[in-house]
Amino acid sequence: MANDSLVLHIDMDSFFVSVEQRRDARLKNRAVIIAGHSARSVVASCSYESRALGIRSGMPLSVARRLCPEALILRGDMELYSQTSAEITEMLNQHLPCLEKASIDEFYADLSGMERFFGGISYARELREKMLEELGLPVSFGISVNKTVSKIATGQAKPNGSKAVAAGQERRFLSPLPVRTIPMAGPVITSKLEHMGIVQIESLQQIPLSWMGQAFGKPGIEIGQKARGIDNMPVTPYREQKSMSAETTFDQDLADPRELRRHLIVLTERLGQELRSQNRMCSEISVKLRYSDFQTFSKQRKIPYTCSDQQLIDHACDLMSALFVRRSRVRCIGLRLSGWITGQTTLSLFDEPSPQIHLYQTMDKLRERFGNQSILRASSLGLNNPKQSPND
Ligand SMILES: [Mg+2]
Repeated sequence: MANDSLVLHIDMDSFFVSVEQRRDARLKNRAVIIAGHSARSVVASCSYESRALGIRSGMPLSVARRLCPEALILRGDMELYSQTSAEITEMLNQHLPCLEKASIDEFYADLSGMERFFGGISYARELREKMLEELGLPVSFGISVNKTVSKIATGQAKPNGSKAVAAGQERRFLSPLPVRTIPMAGPVITSKLEHMGIVQIESLQQIPLSWMGQAFGKPGIEIGQKARGIDNMPVTPYREQKSMSAETTFDQDLADPRELRRHLIVLTERLGQELRSQNRMCSEISVKLRYSDFQTFSKQRKIPYTCSDQQLIDHACDLMSALFVRRSRVRCIGLRLSGWITGQTTLSLFDEPSPQIHLYQTMDKLRERFGNQSILRASSLGLNNPKQSPND
């Protein structure tokens, strides 16, 4: 990447908590935890006051309670967070030429060519002030020649701060930081490296990329490059896909509700997988039914945010039973999901028991490897391969 490239990374500070504090000022300067209701909930977001007591995102709620019995525990309001996210996106889109939305509260912007380094920094600082003032939410940013270094810089700037890394200073900036600050370095690789005594990025910078490749494959090489401050991923402008849909036209028109149901389940699992691969949850589901005479009916409903196959299937089948009232054959069924938010991790952070998430992830991986027909739930088995065509 050329030396004059300039990438800004923006990340809201303890986003869910900040939104709650904006709604109710009494929550300010308090140990606040956002989590789901169930006994197995984990911490989805926590205020810096509770972080000071050792509470972290992803920690079981029961542990957090023990660490800080006086903490205020709130149930997450995804709808509000999602609306606020849209509000932030709109504001940033007005001020930044090339904006990528990386998650519900995280953005990249390409400032290359717009301003030179110091111009870019002051522009970003002014924007940060504006966000504080107009949105009333604390935010941090990092700025450097690429996405990885900027994201790590943001982490160093938090809370409510900013950090600029001048071109050519990437290696030096990264060297004292722990290896786990590299966004790609997950717990498995990190702990293996730690066992070998590689804790700081500085040590990782000394290790040949070929060695990292042998030890950890392609991700190993990428982590090695990131440790050296090298990252060529471009900022990809944010474009909202409004919905995803799929439909199945049967070889022979069907009249058996159980068979229709099975086809609908296959469609739902397919879109559920797509939803998860895009790191999204949806809040609207719609089912379409076309009879042999081409008369077409559809029904939709709002649902709580989800990317869970089981929840989607329940709603889809409900809609189907409400739709399938004529005693005639069906030619085609369709399913559409819409009304989304990005950030599927929030699912596991709220109420869904995490074994279920792991199950989905495993199933998705197997499907990726062996094709869609490799795994079907029992109820969708026994299909003669219908024609399936994605709609958009
Ligand atoms: Mg954040």
